[in-house]
Amino acid sequence: MRVAVFSTKPYDRKFLDEANQRLIDAGGPRAGHEIGYFESRLTVESVALAFGIPAVCVFVNDEIDPLVLSMLSGGETKLVALRCAGFNNTNVAEAARLGITIARVPAYSPHAVAEHTIGLMLALNRKLHRAHARVREGNFALEGLLGFDLHGKTVGVIGTGRIGAIVAQILTGFGCRVLLNDVQHNPALASTGAEYVELDSLLAESDVITLHCPLTPETNHLISRETLAKTKPGVMLINTSRGGLVDTTAAVDALKSGQLGFLGLDVYEEESDLFFRDLSDQVIQDDVFSRLLTFPNVLITGHQAFFTAEAMTAIADTTLANLTAFQRGESLGANQVTVDMIR
Ligand code: NAD
Repeated sequence: MRVAVFSTKPYDRKFLDEANQRLIDAGGPRAGHEIGYFESRLTVESVALAFGIPAVCVFVNDEIDPLVLSMLSGGETKLVALRCAGFNNTNVAEAARLGITIARVPAYSPHAVAEHTIGLMLALNRKLHRAHARVREGNFALEGLLGFDLHGKTVGVIGTGRIGAIVAQILTGFGCRVLLNDVQHNPALASTGAEYVELDSLLAESDVITLHCPLTPETNHLISRETLAKTKPGVMLINTSRGGLVDTTAAVDALKSGQLGFLGLDVYEEESDLFFRDLSDQVIQDDVFSRLLTFPNVLITGHQAFFTAEAMTAIADTTLANLTAFQRGESLGANQVTVDMIR
């Protein structure tokens, strides 16, 4: 089927074209999809590009809000295929009202995100970002690079679904005491020695806290001035989930006071104006983000935790499989985002 793919970079095209070729190789030319690529995000300004095209394919910072959905509906678009797991950028209820189906890729490589999370933890602790810069300058002094053994430390994992569970398993392998918090318990973690506790206990006891729950109205600013006050002084916070989980202004103040000892982010509340682009020749207008960059104990990556070859292949294959199933009138199963998932 025809699909307009928004927010595309050369790497998106590569993996989607390869997945499309696999469909054609397996089922003939008609098994493939007719893919049109657009670099722009899907917003009210760009939605006209999809006019008359039955499916759009979008990513984490596209805006699938009521106005965009009504314009898509007017242009005969019937399917929004998210090439990600999170659907916080999509007004699912409005899509249902307009008869637009929302598909997603619920799992592609939870290992990719989990391993990046551990990477941020280790790099921040052992100050690898600073050490790398020093060694390149011929500075081999160790002052300021003192870390701590992760072994024996308490790590709190908030959200123990696919990604959080793998993070917890890796950390038990490191010899950490792992505390878990989730609205539902994951049986896969029962025999790991990790322990479910109330949020307040996790905040109070953890040396490192890592976030793996989705962004919902309930989890928005889960890390706030109030929750930061309940943590151990000097705690390490890692967020590879969604930016809105952390009140960034509160985090900046906690970094200034020392309450927050380390901050590792792969996501940021206002990332849609920054990430996935080369802005190195421009002045960054976001003062909160710019302030974050000044701290020696903050490490930020630009929403790259998912970005492994395995994950990109799985995202492309599942996205095109969602298009094929929709085109054939088949059930999308667990890949369909339904209204009951936002309640
Ligand atoms: P998942 O659905 O498997 O797990 C999420 C878990 O969070 C579930 O167990 C759920 O019960 C729990 N949860 C929901 N509300 C909660 C609350 N209020 N408190 C505590 N736990 C709560 O999702 P996943 O595949 O593990 O992904 C987790 C998140 O990671 C996604 O929602 C997405 O936002 C993010 N993500 C980021 C990247 C990246 O590149 N940085 C890539 C993929 C996913």
